[in-house]
Amino acid sequence: MPHGARCKALADWLLTTDPHQRIRMAMAGFASLMMTVSAIIVVSLTLAGYGRKDWALWWGLFTGTGLVVVLVLIRSGWSQRLRDPALTQFQIRYALVCNATGYVLLGQARGITPVILSMILMFGIFGMSKRQLAANMVFALVLFGAAIGIVAWLDEPGRMPGLEAANAVMIMLVLLGSTFIAIRLQDIRKRLTQQKLALTRAVEQIRHLATHDELTGLVNRRRMTELMEAESQRCERNGRPLILALLDLDLFKHINDTQGHAVGDQVLQTFALTVQAALRSTDVLARWGGEEFVLMLYDTDPACALPLLDRVRTSVQAQETPAAGRALHVTVSIGLAIGHTGESVEQILERADEALYQAKAAGRNRVVLHGAPPQSAAACTGGTDAKEIWPEI
Ligand code: GH3
Ligand code: MG
Ligand code: MG
Repeated sequence: MPHGARCKALADWLLTTDPHQRIRMAMAGFASLMMTVSAIIVVSLTLAGYGRKDWALWWGLFTGTGLVVVLVLIRSGWSQRLRDPALTQFQIRYALVCNATGYVLLGQARGITPVILSMILMFGIFGMSKRQLAANMVFALVLFGAAIGIVAWLDEPGRMPGLEAANAVMIMLVLLGSTFIAIRLQDIRKRLTQQKLALTRAVEQIRHLATHDELTGLVNRRRMTELMEAESQRCERNGRPLILALLDLDLFKHINDTQGHAVGDQVLQTFALTVQAALRSTDVLARWGGEEFVLMLYDTDPACALPLLDRVRTSVQAQETPAAGRALHVTVSIGLAIGHTGESVEQILERADEALYQAKAAGRNRVVLHGAPPQSAAACTGGTDAKEIWPEI
């Protein structure tokens, strides 16, 4: 196995391949490394004659055991059942206990503990609420209050009360200062998250506006052109025909002229909903312009397209649009074209337009298929008999 692959396999084994678990393990591993180095320094200082050598090894064992337990609980996935699967709060509190007990046993070298304390509190910046940060500060104040009290009570030889008072002040400063900074950072993080969310929403809105028609909510001409091109290529690859239809409301100008533009808009909205309700969710209806719409049928047997569109036509005819106290009925003429091999989207649309023209010329409220009808499939049910509405082209 090459060196790089071996390193990757080792990292996957240590940190797992789940991205969330990897971050938790990496953070816990980093914290453990910091704690281990700090613990080695503490134990070394006691062995060098500072503080209580008799307690130091037990303290080292206690610290090391906690680190191993945390890593095992995260790596095994057990911690994922908890609200805090990274065990951040537990790790911080555990480290604070080790730090405060270290303060007691370090004797004259206890001045190093505030430095380690500030490092521990820094881990609270990651994903901790203000309440948790404040609670940790109180927890640490109580712990160090007790540690300072124990040191005074033990009253070991060589004790320097002045130095201890200075340490106590430093600990207070570190606790208050780091908690204040962590809370400020939380505020900034929260604001950034809110701004990111607002930006994501704005981008989504802009994308929707750029691809959809405002009045009907249907995809607009620009987006439909992209969708038809993509589907045309897919059809070409799969040897299926692209099925397109042009739908145009009949005598719509008359509705506008007699009922007003606002009612006309309402009719367009009702029409869009009615047609969509009569289709499968995979089929795409787009507002092509004015009162003209383009429909693309996905994965449809060409022989079923005509009965399906006739069902659409009858649904539109049956649908009422309430306007000024009475119900309006509109009808739609539909031109249908089934793509041939190698034919472009524009060419299919041109043929659908020709068929639409035929439908209008033949008296409106009908579906016309351009060209020869495809073989009828037994599975197609519903809609009128196709023969009645095929034009003589
Ligand atoms: P035909 O059956 O031959 O299609 O007749 P028509 O009256 O539907 O066709 P024509 O092209 O003469 O009129 C289309 C009308 O659609 C004219 C235009 O004012 C109206 N229109 C286009 N866009 C909108 C819109 O967004 N809202 C409303 N209310 N009317 C629109
Ligand atoms: Mg019209
Ligand atoms: Mg028109």
